[in-house]
Amino acid sequence: MSKILIVEDEISIAELEKDYLELSGFDVVIEETGDAGLNTALHENVDLIILDLMLPNMDGFEVCKKIREVKDIPILLVSAKKEDIDKIRGLGLGADDYITKPFSPSELVARVKAHLARYERLVGSGVKKNEIIEIRGIKIDKTARRVYVNGEEKTFTTKEFDLLTFLAENPNHVFTKEELFSKIWDMESVGDIATVTVHIKKIREKIEFNTSKPQYIETIWGVGYRFKV
Ligand code: CA
Repeated sequence: MSKILIVEDEISIAELEKDYLELSGFDVVIEETGDAGLNTALHENVDLIILDLMLPNMDGFEVCKKIREVKDIPILLVSAKKEDIDKIRGLGLGADDYITKPFSPSELVARVKAHLARYERLVGSGVKKNEIIEIRGIKIDKTARRVYVNGEEKTFTTKEFDLLTFLAENPNHVFTKEELFSKIWDMESVGDIATVTVHIKKIREKIEFNTSKPQYIETIWGVGYRFKV
């Protein structure tokens, strides 16, 4: 069953949307503030978000932007003002659709269904789940071999990408430099375990906010490295 997140501070509207969506077989969760909505969007398994623009604590523009940094799921922005639509388009927030209040609940349900179907086609049912790895602000697209840090794409060499992906796919597992070298570099490679250290340093420069206090790849002194989750 698809799970829909409604972020809406007008509870009567939220409840109406919820009723209609539940009648259509969706699982629905409501959040009434921007920050609570963002938190649920990022930490729960949600398939689509209906996001009001004017919200307490954090507005819908900001919430949309922050969700997009890490998730590709469909976002339907809801606005009480027609003028907002131009603003949304201009900002390029990555929303999938816009709907202005008042709207009919059946129109909303139709759009939700259309976007979920489109998204499922895009993702593809046969695609393995581990093709995209998302850990906090980092998104590794294994298929496209691209890495995004807080929504910004970073350039990685082949070995840097392989090393980061390997560590991220085995979170909290400590690997020695020897293990990493033999996993990532083939036998004919010129180099030694110092190569691993150099590559870790380069990866940290791209993903860490502060390389002297790494939040992702930790050094376990005397042993090796681990990707912390
Ligand atoms: Ca509102």
